[in-house]
Amino acid sequence: MIDSRRLAYLEALGVDVYVRRGLEPRAEPAAAPVEAPGEAPRAVPESAAVVVERGPEANLDWEPLREMVAACTRCTLHETRTQTVFGVGSRSARWMFIGEAPGAEEDRQGEPFVGRAGQLLTSMLRALGFGRDDVYIANILKCRPPGNRDPRPEEAAQCRGYLERQIELVSPALIVAVGRIAAQNLLATDTALARLRGKVHALGPRGWPMIVTYHPAYLLRSPGEKRKAWQDLLFARQVYGRIQNGERVLP
Ligand code: SF4
Repeated sequence: MIDSRRLAYLEALGVDVYVRRGLEPRAEPAAAPVEAPGEAPRAVPESAAVVVERGPEANLDWEPLREMVAACTRCTLHETRTQTVFGVGSRSARWMFIGEAPGAEEDRQGEPFVGRAGQLLTSMLRALGFGRDDVYIANILKCRPPGNRDPRPEEAAQCRGYLERQIELVSPALIVAVGRIAAQNLLATDTALARLRGKVHALGPRGWPMIVTYHPAYLLRSPGEKRKAWQDLLFARQVYGRIQNGERVLP
């Protein structure tokens, strides 16, 4: 069964859709349940071992935190950055998206997820019914690694306190880890992304509900995986719906 909302999801993600004659899109009922990619939400306490050393940022409000990040020299990435990339969006968002690190364009503009990958993330958000201002978007690193290399563990560790504080200040209902690097780093695991998808993870000591999906830059390189990203978005909507209904999605 295909409906107009699902069709919009697929089109926003660039997934080709072929509708058999007689199965044209229909309007989706407002309270229609959202399909999960094959399994009910279940929690994986993979992050239970993650211990984050809290610095002075742990008690800061938004502006002092932003200023602290802008002046940060905790790791060597400050030597090569054009500017820090703090985060954007609604500070009271119910959804928070966390990516890996700024790239060249993000370093230039000071905003996460701009450029082609950013445009695809914006399409993914639209598929969920959001604009960029409806969610909060941040990265695990606030400075660009030279040559777009992967973040080093010590860099991510030095920067983690800032992200932890952003999460606390936003207090989202659901976090979406965008891409393998972000997911593995946040959960302190080397488990493959494919095995992290389709589950609700408990992030950090506070146990923020988190799901995992592909990075839009990866989807641009591997468009055949866009359909799986769509499944992840449907799963995220299902989990969020359960959270809104007061159901437990974590143990
Ligand atoms: S990446 Fe994070 S810890 Fe490193 S200098 Fe930038 S803001 Fe500081």
